[in-house]
Amino acid sequence: MAEQRPGVKALVEQALSVLPQELGCDSCADYLAAYADYRLGGRTPPDSLKGVGEHLDRCEACLEEFKLLLDAVQGARDSLGGQHDL
Ligand SMILES: [Zn+2]
Repeated sequence: MAEQRPGVKALVEQALSVLPQELGCDSCADYLAAYADYRLGGRTPPDSLKGVGEHLDRCEACLEEFKLLLDAVQGARDSLGGQHDL
């Protein structure tokens, strides 16, 4: 008997009505950078970006793009940090 806070459920329903559950590749690409930013920052993406994670679970092409994006951002941060340390 888990108690669910009605506020959270309302937020999820609101997010689902804003963002279609079936996110297309084009829409996914639009949100990919924002989603990557949350993941790299160790933060939980907001409900509005939940569809991106769900799309990445299903779509290998977008997942590959997401990995490349993460690598690029992380690589840029690493090289910046390395130069800064030296
Ligand atoms: Zn896709």
